[in-house]
Amino acid sequence: MSAAAHRAGTAVAAALAAATAVEFLHLAPAAVRLPPLRRTLARRTAGHGTAPAHIALTFDDGPDPRGTPYVLDALDDLGARATFFLLGEMLERAPALGRELVARGHEVAVHGWYHRTQPYPAPVRDLRELRRATEAVAGLCGARPQWYRPPYGVLTAGPALAARRLGLRSVLWTAWGRDWTARATGESVYATARPGLTAGATLLLHDSDRTSAPGSWRATLAALPLIAAHCRAHGLALGPLRDHGVPPGRR
Ligand SMILES: [Zn+2]
Repeated sequence: MSAAAHRAGTAVAAALAAATAVEFLHLAPAAVRLPPLRRTLARRTAGHGTAPAHIALTFDDGPDPRGTPYVLDALDDLGARATFFLLGEMLERAPALGRELVARGHEVAVHGWYHRTQPYPAPVRDLRELRRATEAVAGLCGARPQWYRPPYGVLTAGPALAARRLGLRSVLWTAWGRDWTARATGESVYATARPGLTAGATLLLHDSDRTSAPGSWRATLAALPLIAAHCRAHGLALGPLRDHGVPPGRR
């Protein structure tokens, strides 16, 4: 095969893989769709923590002036801290909210500049975009991010390598509440998340409806006291990824 044909074939394969991954994302958490041999490696990226009786609480897609302030107040009421995976384009429009996240004791992390997966590999573009997002989080929030979570949980080679070069650890999740759907309620989000609320879990929620059904953050908000009560009853603490004991792995 010629080099050009090989490159074209690789691009097509990558695009197909990305499309399949996006499709599957809505069926199962990321680590589940991998063959067994890759699951051990995937467990690290999934965010299985080793801190005893700890669940990592994570929010994606903000900061959003509509949803984030309510989530922050709810977390204060519950005495819980979390990790927020921020989008550069959202943070640029709400930098004060980014600073407030840190001032109120939360951890800030990188979700990308735009919320998109790339249709073809482009390492230079991937590094440029991720560096821009990482510098925005560090500069505007005043705290250096440690974690990267790709949009839709689709971790392809370009962004994975870019994250590594920027000193970020890629982390996905082990449980979610499907809080992005139009039909989500506090009860449904809690019921969906509940089987995964075990020690070492990383829970994915959203403090913004940027890529979800309009107003879906209200379901997330309603679910938080239910999730917190469940964790309390089972002796589990909710906290940010920095306290989760994610085993050191490949950056
Ligand atoms: Zn997202």
